[in-house]
Amino acid sequence: MQEALTIAQSCADSAPRVHTRGVVPDNAVALVNLQTFGCQMNEYDSELVGSLLHGRGYGFTAEDHKADVILFNTCAIRETAHARIFARLGDLQHEKRQRPELVVGILGCMAQNLKEDILLKFPVVDLICGPDSYRQLPDLIDRARGLRERGAGIDLSEYETYDDIAPTRVEGVNAWIAIMRGCDNFCTFCVVPYTRGRERSRDPRGVVDETRRLADQGYKQVTLLGQNVNSYRHDAADFADLMLQVADVPGIERVRFTSPHPKDFPEKLLHAIADHPHLCKQIHLPLQAGSDRILKKMNRGYTPDEYQRLAERIREIIPGVAISTDIICGFCGETDEEYLETERIVREVEFESAFIFKYSERVGTIAAKLWPDDVPEDVKSQRVTRLVELQKQISAKKHHAMLGGTVRVLIEGESKKSAAEWRARTEANTIVVFADPTKQVGDFCNVRITETTPNTLIGVAA
Ligand code: SAM
Ligand code: SF4
Repeated sequence: MQEALTIAQSCADSAPRVHTRGVVPDNAVALVNLQTFGCQMNEYDSELVGSLLHGRGYGFTAEDHKADVILFNTCAIRETAHARIFARLGDLQHEKRQRPELVVGILGCMAQNLKEDILLKFPVVDLICGPDSYRQLPDLIDRARGLRERGAGIDLSEYETYDDIAPTRVEGVNAWIAIMRGCDNFCTFCVVPYTRGRERSRDPRGVVDETRRLADQGYKQVTLLGQNVNSYRHDAADFADLMLQVADVPGIERVRFTSPHPKDFPEKLLHAIADHPHLCKQIHLPLQAGSDRILKKMNRGYTPDEYQRLAERIREIIPGVAISTDIICGFCGETDEEYLETERIVREVEFESAFIFKYSERVGTIAAKLWPDDVPEDVKSQRVTRLVELQKQISAKKHHAMLGGTVRVLIEGESKKSAAEWRARTEANTIVVFADPTKQVGDFCNVRITETTPNTLIGVAA
């Protein structure tokens, strides 16, 4: 098992999402099939791309065989993310022989990471476009279609925040809002600072205006996004100030954020979350590893003790808060004893949920330059399996304790197993499945919990 547990949308390995907003097949200049892989930031970027292409008269289709242009918005965080795109490009070779006019583009982190190598290695690809170059994309596509010219937009910018572009949202109850882009942390394992460039924050006025427009469109929940979201700063405004402004927008009842870094959690932010009814009592707190030596080697900027003290403080200030985490198993030189330190912290902190990954060496990162990727694959896999099992037991225990209790949920859609049941989410981000024909998507509802699994709560309308 590569990785597991909860919230599949944030995994680079979950199924791609196809952008279909703004489908105008009759008068569109051409049809685009835009597939999004990877994190929520990529989903948001696809909404920006949707808006930019819509402005040029392009329409969207969910069916790739009907598309004139196929775009993959990609992830580079682990090798599996690259491998999936390579496989897709292989599949497209046949399609392109049948339809030589088809334009294929690679967007996002993989385009930025591999640059022109993609054009050299994959003749099927007509254009590449990195996360800071989406304004060039309509021209790149026009040239590929009209002149059959292959092109690349891969400049990183210190300023680009796309503040003036209104993304074309994919329908749902939650809307993503990127409040900052890039990352300056340079964790030694991570490719993000190289694919998304330097950290820059948007003007809070733009973020609040965007939130107001979303509330007017009926969205009840927004999730503030950034690679290092809680280091947001614009002039005098810090992340807590921005969150409070967003939470005060009438109509918005839930505000979430991801992904934060443990180094940027001042008490002001924790009190803001505790005190404002619209700020969800849920914090993602990426741990990465439990050993002091490995954390130093990762350049994470905290010790295991500091991390645990922060988790305790979060639970003191925000009663009932749910804490989730990210963990990497088998980073360069991680010994069995060091791995067991991670298990110890997982046991002691008792996370509500966890994303658990095998270390994947990324070209160009500090770790790839300095140390061999020397933990054998089977050892990495065993560590992931053990941690997933441990986390499952913890999640199961926590969910079991909720039996008979009542939770307030926001309905997101039909449950995967039955159209007669709703799939909803608690403030703590736990999925709840229940039936109530009087309700609809976007409604809040109280649910009494009658059954639990490690990942899901099952209940009846209360
Ligand atoms: N900015 C966030 C933070 O500081 O933790 C994380 C963003 S990253 C897109 C999401 C997660 O992917 C990380 O928390 C880390 O656990 C995982 N990740 C990043 N690089 C990785 C690598 N080279 N191998 C395995 N997992 C990795
Ligand atoms: Fe990557 Fe570290 Fe930045 Fe997160 S904080 S995006 S893990 S470099």
